[in-house]
Amino acid sequence: MPLDILIVGGGVCGPALATLLLRADPRRYTITVVERYAELRTGGQQIDIRAQGIPVMRKMGLLGAVRDVVVHERGMAFVDKAGRAKFQLTVNDTGKGQQAFTSEYEIMRGDLVRVLYDASLAASEAARKQGGAGVTYEFGVSVESISQIETHEKDGRRGGGVDVTFSDGRQRRFDLVVGADGQGSRTRRQAWGDQAGRDVFHTVHSYTAYFTVPRVEAEDSDIAVVYHMPGRRMIAFRANDRPTTQCYLFCNDPGSCAELRAATGGAHKSVDEQKQIWRDFFQDTDAWCRERVFEGLKNTEDFYSHEAGQVKLESYSRGRVTLLGDAGYCPSPVSGCGTTASLVGAYVLAGELARHTDDDVQGALEDYDRVLRPFVGEIQKLPPGAPKIGAPQTAWGIWFFHLVGWLITSLKIDKLVLSLMPEDKGGWALPSYPELKLAE
Ligand SMILES: Cc1cc2nc3c(=O)[nH]c(=O)nc-3n(C[C@H](O)[C@H](O)[C@H](O)COP(=O)(O)OP(=O)(O)OC[C@H]3O[C@@H](n4cnc5c(N)ncnc54)[C@H](O)[C@@H]3O)c2cc1C
Repeated sequence: MPLDILIVGGGVCGPALATLLLRADPRRYTITVVERYAELRTGGQQIDIRAQGIPVMRKMGLLGAVRDVVVHERGMAFVDKAGRAKFQLTVNDTGKGQQAFTSEYEIMRGDLVRVLYDASLAASEAARKQGGAGVTYEFGVSVESISQIETHEKDGRRGGGVDVTFSDGRQRRFDLVVGADGQGSRTRRQAWGDQAGRDVFHTVHSYTAYFTVPRVEAEDSDIAVVYHMPGRRMIAFRANDRPTTQCYLFCNDPGSCAELRAATGGAHKSVDEQKQIWRDFFQDTDAWCRERVFEGLKNTEDFYSHEAGQVKLESYSRGRVTLLGDAGYCPSPVSGCGTTASLVGAYVLAGELARHTDDDVQGALEDYDRVLRPFVGEIQKLPPGAPKIGAPQTAWGIWFFHLVGWLITSLKIDKLVLSLMPEDKGGWALPSYPELKLAE
């Protein structure tokens, strides 16, 4: 009997897990992925793969596919209100140590989602040729309710399962449900209880609005631009080699974040209402890009706004429901490691399932938790003072920030420090799982 697995969420880690499992044992798993969106959800701006996430992609043989679509960004300039650079952080090209803000693997979220989705379809096709069931994607479907069962009815040897009711009314029994449905995970709220599932989300006091604006050839280049405003606010543009430019509005002041949370109703307001709230928050800007931001905000069709935070759970699993990626241990975009954590998490979960027998899914989930937790602990450690320290409160604070930044970069201290820091987070070694049959 194959292990019947439901993955909720077709983002980054859902397709990654499906790929890893099907490659490990093409006939052992029947995988269903339900994605709430009507199609593959390729929205989102620039994300990056770092640290232990890079060897995971290498082992999966996908680093080449990622390289084909990476965004070519050389660094990040911090500018004054006329758009003039005060100092610039560039990629760590020393060949040693940790990646800078701009990593070697900067990629548009939609491109990474597609690389992983395509890999899972290829693994599925290969599995079906060998008599396996492969993976089935169901778009526009979510889970209405879940109910844990102590003993699997059709096959008592596995000792447990989950009865699932889908949004279209269908019911089905699974051996394992994996919530890969992002930081606000509904699976988490269903399995842990609505309030408990919300309470494990801890704000880091940073709100962001992301949207796309038309490219302006005279202004946009492969250097991202960050403009600071008093009140711990920032406007940023990332253009690189793309036909459109990404615009970001940040607010890192705890008081303002609370106001934004109250005003946006936790993002439950309409997009137009949210846009207006962000416009009001940046109304006092006299920066060179003022009209570009407001026009862009008005016209964009891919506006997305959210509060950054971390998910901290005492256990990643409840019975036969487990959480993966942002759903279980979101480190927040401030850590720069959300995507990395979701890839490493998929690798460890797949490895532990492959290592344990069908009779011992519970043991696999316990070991997934035990092995991954130290890594999650490392990536959830934010730099001291972050994210406030990167966004001063006053005009004098911004002046001082620019001065310190100029000194550090002029003396190349940033490069020196990065070259001395290990790229792997906390020295945590990626476990080896020969059972996954990946390239070493
Ligand atoms: C639209 C979007 C845009 C993003 N943009 C950025 C960005 O610009 N910068 C950044 O740093 N991070 C962004 N992120 C977050 C980033 O993708 C993750 O932090 C990281 O890659 C970890 O991925 P994940 O697979 O755990 O979660 P996600 O990438 O968030 O994927 C979760 C998936 O689950 C689906 N889903 C959610 N709820 C349900 C449900 N109830 N039933 C079924 N499916 C569900 C979602 O539609 C999504 O496809 C974005 C996420 C999304 C969904």
